[in-house]
Amino acid sequence: METSDVIVVGGGLFGPATAYGLRQQGLDTVVLDDGDDVLRAARGNFGLVWVQSKGMGMHQYHAWSRESAHLYHDFTSELREFSGTDIAHRNDGGMHLLLGEAEREQRRREMDIMRQQAGADGFECEIIEREEAEKMMPGVRLGDDVVGASFSKHDGDVNPLQLLRAIHASFQHLGGRFRSDSRVENIRHDGSVFIAETKNGAFAAPKIVLACGHGITKLAPMVGLDTPIVPQRGQVLVTERAEPLLNMALGTVRQTDEGTVQIGNTEEDVEFDDGTTLSAGQAMARRAVQVFPQLAGLRLIRTWGCIRVLTPDKCAIYDESEEFPGAYVATSHSGVTLAAVNARHTAKWIATGETPPGFEEFSAKRFKTEGGHVSTHH
Ligand SMILES: Cc1cc2nc3c(=O)[nH]c(=O)nc-3n(C[C@H](O)[C@H](O)[C@H](O)COP(=O)(O)OP(=O)(O)OC[C@H]3O[C@@H](n4cnc5c(N)ncnc54)[C@H](O)[C@@H]3O)c2cc1C
Repeated sequence: METSDVIVVGGGLFGPATAYGLRQQGLDTVVLDDGDDVLRAARGNFGLVWVQSKGMGMHQYHAWSRESAHLYHDFTSELREFSGTDIAHRNDGGMHLLLGEAEREQRRREMDIMRQQAGADGFECEIIEREEAEKMMPGVRLGDDVVGASFSKHDGDVNPLQLLRAIHASFQHLGGRFRSDSRVENIRHDGSVFIAETKNGAFAAPKIVLACGHGITKLAPMVGLDTPIVPQRGQVLVTERAEPLLNMALGTVRQTDEGTVQIGNTEEDVEFDDGTTLSAGQAMARRAVQVFPQLAGLRLIRTWGCIRVLTPDKCAIYDESEEFPGAYVATSHSGVTLAAVNARHTAKWIATGETPPGFEEFSAKRFKTEGGHVSTHH
């Protein structure tokens, strides 16, 4: 039996980012990950560190995302130092371009609600006119139907696969142990430690963190936690490499540090089907060219579908089990955005019990219905 101070289940983004922070807190940490053939949002996402649209209905989640974006600067430097990997972090703001008056009105309404719910804490996002948006991207000609954009100075992006690699390497650089192809099948509690059983043997620790995306649904009840998660597919298109044109983070069309242009992102309720469809690809490509006519000549080279890990209200869940203290769950959409805050505050919570004000709002208790069950509808 391999022992440690803490077991982190899940080798995507939530698990390793938290595990990296736990090593910095001085805890002997083992990460257990499933095999290569399972769902992994960490390997198919869009790479945005995005704040402006996060937390409709729950300002605490907006503030949590904003805090992460602020922590990203130091986080990026550390990852570079420990892993030698540059994650291509851009943090000079992000825009969501708006096509037509109806989109502008809808965005304005959403922003009004979010500003109201933020109260004194503030909500820093503004609608800018089309001319101003064009000025921010020298050389770009926006399509005739673009009326403006919502802009937030907190937004940015990274190379998501380099991020994943850098977090894994930094965790191991700090002495963390990573066990791949080690799916946790069962968790037992023997009074003082949790025992996680895998086909490669058992692992024991006084603390266990479930941060394994859709794998949480099966494991959480074993430690007395109820964590509702639903799947949602996102399809992405990628073009061939092009000269640098789009110089900042953009909501649905972004040029990567490698020169390719990523075009996204559908939101489809298709259970766990991670395939792609021609109709979705056509719709995404059509919109991209409507916004940026200069992309029209580029060839598409890749497309994929990937399953999001969503809570019913699209905000994060962080919980410690009341029945089995020492067992934690951490999950959300936006694992790229939240990587820095997970490395800092989530790790500190697990290591020391210390939490920032309002952290208890992230408990899945917010989904409890009158009968005491957790609802997946919100
Ligand atoms: C199309 C798309 C676009 C996205 N765009 C963005 C974006 O721009 N910005 C952003 O911030 N976020 C984005 N996301 C979300 C982000 O990718 C996820 O929030 C993040 O990957 C979730 O991390 P996770 O570690 O919780 O889950 P995952 O990345 O899914 O990883 C879960 C891990 O747990 C392992 N596992 C599962 N069960 C077990 C078990 N029983 N035992 C051991 N290991 C197990 C799996 O092998 C896997 O490695 C996007 C997601 C999608 C699908």
